[in-house]
Amino acid sequence: MKLPDHISAEKWARLKAAADQYQTPFQLIDLQTVAEKYQELKNGFDFASIYYAVKANPHPQIVGLLAGLGSSFDIASIYELDQVLSHGVTPDRISYGNTIKKREDIRYFYDKGVRLFATDSEADLENIAQYAPGARIYIRIQTEGAEGADWPLSRKFGCNPDMALDLAILAKKLGLEPYGISFHVGSQQRLIDVWDAAIAKVKVIFERLRSECDIELRMINMGGGFPAQYLTKANDFSVYCEEITRYLMEDFGDNPPQIILEPGRSLVGDSGLLVSEVVLISRKSHTALNRWVYTDVGLFNGLIETLGEAIKFPLETERDGECEEVVLAGPTCDSMDIMYENYKYELPLSLEIGDRLYWFSTGAYTTSYSSVEFNGFPPLKCYCI
Ligand SMILES: *Cc1c(COP(=O)(O)O)cnc(C)c1O
Repeated sequence: MKLPDHISAEKWARLKAAADQYQTPFQLIDLQTVAEKYQELKNGFDFASIYYAVKANPHPQIVGLLAGLGSSFDIASIYELDQVLSHGVTPDRISYGNTIKKREDIRYFYDKGVRLFATDSEADLENIAQYAPGARIYIRIQTEGAEGADWPLSRKFGCNPDMALDLAILAKKLGLEPYGISFHVGSQQRLIDVWDAAIAKVKVIFERLRSECDIELRMINMGGGFPAQYLTKANDFSVYCEEITRYLMEDFGDNPPQIILEPGRSLVGDSGLLVSEVVLISRKSHTALNRWVYTDVGLFNGLIETLGEAIKFPLETERDGECEEVVLAGPTCDSMDIMYENYKYELPLSLEIGDRLYWFSTGAYTTSYSSVEFNGFPPLKCYCI
């Protein structure tokens, strides 16, 4: 078995011993890796505040670990809020980062003491003014396209920079504190210079608000987008740190604002191992060149990010010998439940029904995206070690 570069033999031994105790399919989270990733991020951006994007993996032990390490949290719903508060996190370490929210949810956050809200529209800003009076707001802007991101987050969120100016002015008029600007360059973003373009846009907004409106913004929330280690290679994290820090220095060197980062994938992705079992192996005709390998995990119980084959997880089995290209599909009665058909994984010809498949770097956006009971299959289980 060829381990991915980031899995040492020692770590594999630990994961394997734990994995042998459970029935497939399930996810294992190596908490030590999460702690290391958090430390790496803190060291790499020692000037920034880290708000973990809980949606990447809300497992209570992950939230508890990060709470203990001093992380803050980017929250999208009242349910995530309750969970994070239950770990003793104080509301000054929480940001309501969803720009799409009900009025009663704004009030709920406010009543719990949260005072930092994202927005990208006039209607939402008016709701915040009414139900969270005096709160700090930051305005999410759209960044160019989806280029370079393996899981884009464009279009649905953010407004254009001109509108951001108007929203900051309106916020002040409504008695709110226009505090900063946010963006998200897309998840698993492999092109580092998109941060450069985004930071440059933010600089223009800061300057225009200062000179034309007497509004002094104080914070940039640079979102997430940092990579986990999949088959499609990304730069080392240290390169992200160096480059992005340089862009900030170039644009804001003499008067640096507070910087917030909201990592999800890069904090928990590499910590996860998903273990599934081969349910069936077949050929569609006597002359077919590819076998189909069906496994007990698919798009609906953990691997939704294989949609459009966007994310290619490192995959291994314990068999070796000659390999052949396969199509990989899930267990449900939905023909969309095919993980990889264009991109061909090679698996050993000796692979048999009942064998385990080990999917690496599956700590982010797997369990949290898992359906409740499509075809009766339960959501993916998660165990922490
Ligand atoms: C999902 C999300 C994140 C996390 O993004 P990653 O690419 O997983 O790091 C951060 N901020 C916001 C607002 C998000 O919606």
